[in-house]
Amino acid sequence: MVKRTEFGQIGEKAVLLVEKIFNEANWVCNRLYHDFGIDLHVKVFESGRTAPWEFHVQIKGTKHPHISKDRIHFDIDTEHLKDWRDSLLPVLFVICDVRSDKVYWLWIKKYLNKLNLDWQEQSIITLQIPANNQLRPEILPQLCTDLRRSFLMHEARKVIGLMEEPDEINRSSFGFNSPYYRPLTELGRSIKNPALARCILCGNYFWIEEGIAIAWEFVKIYEPYVYEPAVYDCDAPEEFCPVCMSGKGALEKCKNCGRYAVPEFDEIFEDWDNPLITWDEAKQLCHEYFEELMRSRECKLKNGNSI
Ligand SMILES: [Zn+2]
Ligand SMILES: [Zn+2]
Repeated sequence: MVKRTEFGQIGEKAVLLVEKIFNEANWVCNRLYHDFGIDLHVKVFESGRTAPWEFHVQIKGTKHPHISKDRIHFDIDTEHLKDWRDSLLPVLFVICDVRSDKVYWLWIKKYLNKLNLDWQEQSIITLQIPANNQLRPEILPQLCTDLRRSFLMHEARKVIGLMEEPDEINRSSFGFNSPYYRPLTELGRSIKNPALARCILCGNYFWIEEGIAIAWEFVKIYEPYVYEPAVYDCDAPEEFCPVCMSGKGALEKCKNCGRYAVPEFDEIFEDWDNPLITWDEAKQLCHEYFEELMRSRECKLKNGNSI
């Protein structure tokens, strides 16, 4: 029983440490009690927003964190990990060193998504938290940005479903018929003002800086509600679509420069009567090189005639 009391004390101290950090930023913490200990439900109020961001915090207190190679190692059973992965809200996993008052954090869903190994097959896995990931008031804006991104990602999938399968009944089974379809990639930190772009060629959705979509005069095809991303039709796949530019999309590789370029459609080739470039040649060239070849052959022809 002595052990259990000490365990409880460590847990309580850990929760207090975390609550203190969030309370200073006026984030609202509510305690949730269950068999695994105490956790928090946190609401983040951002100025100008009608509703708060929300997330769960899973707190583990310890007197002896296992630190090796600048990482905190912590064993956890996969049953809990599966719950957190499937949780509707983002889950922040934290380890509190109650002797040094240091708190280390990790977005658990993102971490699990990145794990390549078959962690679900194991009963226990060892989480590795970078020792740099210390929860301090200064990093709360970063957590806020992460949260906004994670909600945007969540809403983006719904928006794509809505665009591709507007029929509510079939929404659960929506899918793309396009052979080029690739799932939406995670939203990185490099994009400041994220919007979705839909490639007019391959039909894939990808993240784009909204300012760029506007500057390129892409047509806005979805007006977002709060928390949702806007969607633009991307009619310059050769410049932006990651699927097309990887060679897995609808674009053809230019024989001259190796860039993936918009293919000329078959209708254009139907009555091909260009005397300078053959139909077969044209099909294998990007627009720029096609023009260049035209000019150089025109030149040659003129010079040839003038002699
Ligand atoms: Zn594409
Ligand atoms: Zn080219």
